[in-house]
Amino acid sequence: MVIIMLGAQGTGKGTIAGLISEEMKWPQISTGDIFRKNISEKTELGIEAEKYIARGELVPDEITVPMVINRLNQKDAQEGSILDGFPRTTQQAKKLDEILEKLGKKVDLVINLSTPKEELIDRMLTRRVCSNQECKATYNTKLHPPKVEGICDKCGATLKQREDDSNSEAINRRLEIYEEQTSPLVEYYEAKGVLRTEVVSTSINRMGKDVARVIIEDIKKN
Ligand code: AMP
Repeated sequence: MVIIMLGAQGTGKGTIAGLISEEMKWPQISTGDIFRKNISEKTELGIEAEKYIARGELVPDEITVPMVINRLNQKDAQEGSILDGFPRTTQQAKKLDEILEKLGKKVDLVINLSTPKEELIDRMLTRRVCSNQECKATYNTKLHPPKVEGICDKCGATLKQREDDSNSEAINRRLEIYEEQTSPLVEYYEAKGVLRTEVVSTSINRMGKDVARVIIEDIKKN
């Protein structure tokens, strides 16, 4: 089963993808995480991608698409995969359809997360991530703080703020790109009949874990 997480930055795509991944034993394929791992390891791909990521711009398809193809071809992604952060443009979505067709697969479910804009910026500013690239656990200093401030509950490594979450210019640019280039994917996948929209908001007390729970139940029923 191929699942795509759609939604603006800060909606909780990573949290929900992680919970589905844990339960279903399907890999969470986060393009942002793969880039950040490459940046921390100073690989050629990481050095190139960092120029765009630091400014909140999209990394060009020439770099992103082959990276995704490579990941989807790995053994652990054959039964199921949860794409988190890809596709982000209609062009990438069309490319993904081609890639999956070659693998005899298709996009089965697109989880579209909707969160009021005023909550998104606050969530990005209060997001903290584990500095251990093998762990990558995500916290929020207000909504989901670690047990010990600044320390990851899971692995004990220090928590840090993502560079693109600490810079208001990069935050605004990412939200702008989402509106312009990624939000048209809602219509793209709606037309294919695979879209499922879920609201995540503190105002209705519905958080990522609540959404993940109902989706996991439905996946298991089918
Ligand atoms: P994320 O962790 O999903 O917020 O991604 C962090 C950054 O990585 C984004 O702001 C982009 O610069 C880059 N990135 C992640 N996924 C993609 C993608 N599908 N296409 C282009 N750039 C991406």
